[in-house]
Amino acid sequence: MAMPTVAFIGRPNVGKSTIFNRIAGDRISIVEDTPGVTRDRIYSHGEWLTTKFAMIDTGGIEISDAPFSTQIKNQAEIAIDEADVIVFIVSGKEGLTADDEQVAKILYRSDKPVVLAVNKVDNPEGREDIYDFYSLGFGDPMPISGVHGLGLGDLLDKVVEKFPKTDEKAPNDDIRFSIIGRPNVGKSSLVNAILGEDRVIVSDIAGTTRDAIDTRFEADGIKFTMVDTAGIRKRGKVYENTERYSVMRAMKAIDQSDVILFVMNAEEGIREQDKKVAGYAHEAGKAIITVVNKWDTLKKTNHTQQDFETLIRNEFQYMAYSPIIFVSAVTKQRIEKLPQLIKQVYDNHEKRVQSSALNDVIMAAVAVHPTPTVNGKRLRIYYATQVKSGPPTFVVFVNNPDLMHFSYVRFLENQIRENFDFTGTPIRIIKRSRK
Ligand code: GDP
Ligand code: GDP
Repeated sequence: MAMPTVAFIGRPNVGKSTIFNRIAGDRISIVEDTPGVTRDRIYSHGEWLTTKFAMIDTGGIEISDAPFSTQIKNQAEIAIDEADVIVFIVSGKEGLTADDEQVAKILYRSDKPVVLAVNKVDNPEGREDIYDFYSLGFGDPMPISGVHGLGLGDLLDKVVEKFPKTDEKAPNDDIRFSIIGRPNVGKSSLVNAILGEDRVIVSDIAGTTRDAIDTRFEADGIKFTMVDTAGIRKRGKVYENTERYSVMRAMKAIDQSDVILFVMNAEEGIREQDKKVAGYAHEAGKAIITVVNKWDTLKKTNHTQQDFETLIRNEFQYMAYSPIIFVSAVTKQRIEKLPQLIKQVYDNHEKRVQSSALNDVIMAAVAVHPTPTVNGKRLRIYYATQVKSGPPTFVVFVNNPDLMHFSYVRFLENQIRENFDFTGTPIRIIKRSRK
């Protein structure tokens, strides 16, 4: 489940984000754009031939007001810590600079494979500009043009070739979850509270990158793997306190989990950063539990909880399925409910419903709320079936998918949710034409 990771590094303006967006852009998302989801373009996925990978644009993680030497050192450290392969980008248009040499010096100290790409080589004559870059000592520089999409195939061939050979341990049946949230909301405290003294800690397993540590434990007879506890335990590096680094780290952990404990903080409420992370988890199709921590710090009246709930529902309308639990890592209030809740949303995430029961629900829904007519043509629904779980994904066969607008899809989703328990998990509905 852990994807190999590529990091792009180089001085500003060499074209890192152009290349990142170009590779990410070729992905086709089956998910419709969700209103209220904030996008962050420093972490994304790419695919080359049959290999899927994660990508980080380290240039997007800046320490405010730091001089160039500090910025680049931090970016290089992030690349070295997070990536399996580093793509070092320079510019053929501007030629070799002292800043490039400074980047190279930091990368020498790592044992991660580095592929050197000379960007802005927009036409074949420009290929001679690459020779100077041999002196950087990273082997053959690969000429590319991010703007024109030239040479990217050759570059990705080389990147994929250098990915570590997957020695994936036999996958176990553990429920994989991660604890996600802004710095200081209480993630480490929650880890400790959940693990407590009486939980059996099975073992620590090292993931693909050196510091990605998963923790296995058993609670209420259920086996869990908590993903990326190393990312939660701080190592004291400067960049760990930057927002974009923690968002990137959260996205990586989400990719490797089935269930997300999305933690916010009763004292501080909802922040922009929360929206990026929750939106990513939703679009990735993960089961999500909303955890409001530090519940002990509020002076409560008999409607405090209701008010908080309303606030969350308004801010995260696309996540109406996510149960909200109010906890305290310090007093341990409701912590003991978490293992069962994680199990419940996981089961819903993996649930399969029978086609006959599903079609009964759809046909009854259509009877109550007839299908719309567009330009004199009526939408007809023939048949629905669940094609996948994790998250549950339904295909609805219709006469013409264009006649089925978002509002009718949402109506069907609500009907499905009323009849089957999908608490905690997004569900997807794909419309397909059957002539
Ligand atoms: P970053 O700071 O490294 O992320 O660089 P950007 O991706 O923002 O690109 C910096 C500038 O270089 C922009 O004006 C891009 O349009 C331009 N650029 C990026 N790739 C190419 C390329 O392949 N050829 C040319 N001619 N310009 C490019
Ligand atoms: P992280 O950065 O998200 O891992 O947050 P920490 O677990 O390091 O917690 C940040 C601070 O909040 C620490 O001082 C904790 O003691 C405190 N804290 C965490 N959970 C709670 C809680 O439930 N109640 C109170 N009052 N403080 C908490």
